[in-house]
Amino acid sequence: MIVPKKWKIYSINNIDRIPQLNVLSEEERFNIKTVAKVLPFRANNYVVEELIDWSKIPNDPIFQLTFMQKDMLKKAQFNKMAKAIKDGLGARKLNEVANEIREELNPHPAGQMTANVPFLDDKPVSGIQHKYKETVLVFPTGGQTCHAYCTFCFRWAQFVGNSDLKFVTDESNRFQEYLKQHKEVSDVLFTGGDPMVMSYSKLKAYLEPLLQPEFDHIKNIRIGTKSLAYWPYKYITDKDSDSIIELFEKIMTSGKQLALMGHFSHTVELKTPAVRKAISRLQSIGVKIRTQSPVIKHVNDSAEVWSNMWKEQVNLGLIPYYMFVERNTGAKSYFEVPLYKVFNIYQEAFKKVSGLSRTARGPVMSATPGKVMIDGIIEVMAEKVFVLNFLQGRNPDWVRKPFFARYDEKATWFDDLKPALGETKFFFEDELNEILNKKENMFAKVAV
Ligand SMILES: *Cc1c(COP(=O)(O)O)cnc(C)c1O
Ligand code: SF4
Repeated sequence: MIVPKKWKIYSINNIDRIPQLNVLSEEERFNIKTVAKVLPFRANNYVVEELIDWSKIPNDPIFQLTFMQKDMLKKAQFNKMAKAIKDGLGARKLNEVANEIREELNPHPAGQMTANVPFLDDKPVSGIQHKYKETVLVFPTGGQTCHAYCTFCFRWAQFVGNSDLKFVTDESNRFQEYLKQHKEVSDVLFTGGDPMVMSYSKLKAYLEPLLQPEFDHIKNIRIGTKSLAYWPYKYITDKDSDSIIELFEKIMTSGKQLALMGHFSHTVELKTPAVRKAISRLQSIGVKIRTQSPVIKHVNDSAEVWSNMWKEQVNLGLIPYYMFVERNTGAKSYFEVPLYKVFNIYQEAFKKVSGLSRTARGPVMSATPGKVMIDGIIEVMAEKVFVLNFLQGRNPDWVRKPFFARYDEKATWFDDLKPALGETKFFFEDELNEILNKKENMFAKVAV
């Protein structure tokens, strides 16, 4: 029997109340708190009690995934924050120091804040992104936080209040009007944060309207969520869990597909009785669960972890979907894995699994021009190159045209890559600039 749990949040304010942390020295706890003044910290009682193996810290992957480590900041940054705390600065001053450090951590990567925002009647539509033709991302206002925070999260800036939340849906829900008019859109993907932090009634307000006939062109409703890994009780014992399952069932029987895009970073997250129950409950009503995660140093940077994770997922009826490359923001230098290594992890893991797990595509970088996959490392005309490929492009015509970048062992992100074989630019660059300029001009017009 699964004992219901009441969601208990641990933040920087009550971190000392986590009894398990007593195994750490005073200094180690100070280190966690110091980094947590800069990067957002949030854990919960499920993560602390059921996922982290406290006999294995600090190397335990889920401890690394949710608890700050001293080296997540550069020495100078850490020392600056530590000194501010030791000098007894007040809350406002501490926050100023934190903000100075945050600015050094590339808080808004990939400039996607404006480039992906679509227009309706010459005005931007808040709370959605439309980058790829078939799929619109929706950022519901109530879903911009998570049950726990990943230490590597690329949305960290938003969790420390350092981002203009013009990015979330507004009260008028203009995004629905946009969706009605855009018949090319077959998929709506709710994302965040984590939309599954929302209560049943909020969730329903977003999902149910899409069942009306004006939205017949929308065939797939996806929810990007870490809830299965961080709070599976959402689907089994929380007080609104039955209503949520009913709502999902209603969508499934309406003729649309509901798909959960489950963010799983490690096999550990698939093992507890609670997550297994949650998965089977969702599956019992026909919901498909696809899985994705970036490769993260200290958490899952090994082929062994990935092949085990995929096998476990297939065994549970989940569908491996994307292996991502970690983005260039936040504690990036702590978590980043060079592209050639990420590719090796993918290839080695791929080798070890049957075809049912080979639905996992990657390694993928969600970069400004599109979703770029590293397809291989080969030699062409005596030059070592990365073979790249778009899985999604701002222009759909770019998709699945292999192109080359110079091999570079230091490269950790798409922006580090240079064209190979004597080319001076990538084939899509001019067109990309055109698309981005056009969008910028549209924004410039409404700004006056
Ligand atoms: C990944 C992503 C999608 C979904 O792409 P699929 O390949 O359909 O899963 C949609 N929009 C944006 C901006 C994305 O990054
Ligand atoms: S679950 Fe996703 S959005 Fe939430 S903290 Fe983790 S990576 Fe960030």
